Amino acid sequence: MVGNRYAREEVAPGIWQFRGAHDWDLGVNAVAVVSGKRAVVVDNLYRPADARRMFRHLEREGIEPTALVNTHWHTDHTIGNGLFGCPVWAHVTGPKLLRKYWPQWVGEPHDPRAGGLRLRAPDRLFRRSASLDLDGLRIELLHVPGHTPDSVGAFLPEPRIFIAGDTVMMLPFVRFGDSGQEIRSLERIQRLRPRTILQGHGPPCTAARLSGDIRYLRRVQEEASEAHRVGTSRESFSQLPLERFLPPARCRTTPKDYEAAHRSNLAKVWDETLAAR
Ligand SMILES: [Zn+2]
Repeated sequence: MVGNRYAREEVAPGIWQFRGAHDWDLGVNAVAVVSGKRAVVVDNLYRPADARRMFRHLEREGIEPTALVNTHWHTDHTIGNGLFGCPVWAHVTGPKLLRKYWPQWVGEPHDPRAGGLRLRAPDRLFRRSASLDLDGLRIELLHVPGHTPDSVGAFLPEPRIFIAGDTVMMLPFVRFGDSGQEIRSLERIQRLRPRTILQGHGPPCTAARLSGDIRYLRRVQEEASEAHRVGTSRESFSQLPLERFLPPARCRTTPKDYEAAHRSNLAKVWDETLAAR
């Protein structure tokens, strides 16, 4: 599923991935885990029209969402929360972050960015993990911070699918989180040995990608330490090209517009390194 427009694909039996438009090339994803006429929904896209389209799609198929999961507070994953009548699951730190940033990032319902949708904060909160049951199918919710402090993933042990939100992206993105936490979370996902990972943005991938993600972040951390040692400014450090941190093959498959994410990773890790000194 490549592109940046609303689409739906059954990526595994009963696992529907929805893609919505986004400012980034590969769009944004949400997932419905469907069993008969019930579903656990993970995230709900970015543009209000896409969130509505996804919600109506489930409605048309006669599928009742029994739980909604927010992988993290970012409003390109939570804009449609208010459409759902079911409980909304998230990490315990999620609602505060969503309430804090919604006014800036989305605004009042009449704001074009909100498209008539209202903030609905998650109401089923957990700290380390939680378990959902969908007609006997176990869905484990795990706290995997790093992209944001409240990031969570949903693991389906039976088909070994990990729904990662933005903890797994085409390039790790830690501007709103913490690089050390992100490394530990990626290692935790590796230990689950998922067969398929559904990322927050971009097509499904395998766990083989994660070792490269971890190497990238470690390299950024090492170079940030070196930058502080030799007195490189934040400004100059954050201009270092992606090619310096990723092997050529991986650079070729990383969409161009992730270079901005890379630069903000550099600035963030420069800050982290300064704070740790
Ligand atoms: Zn995000």
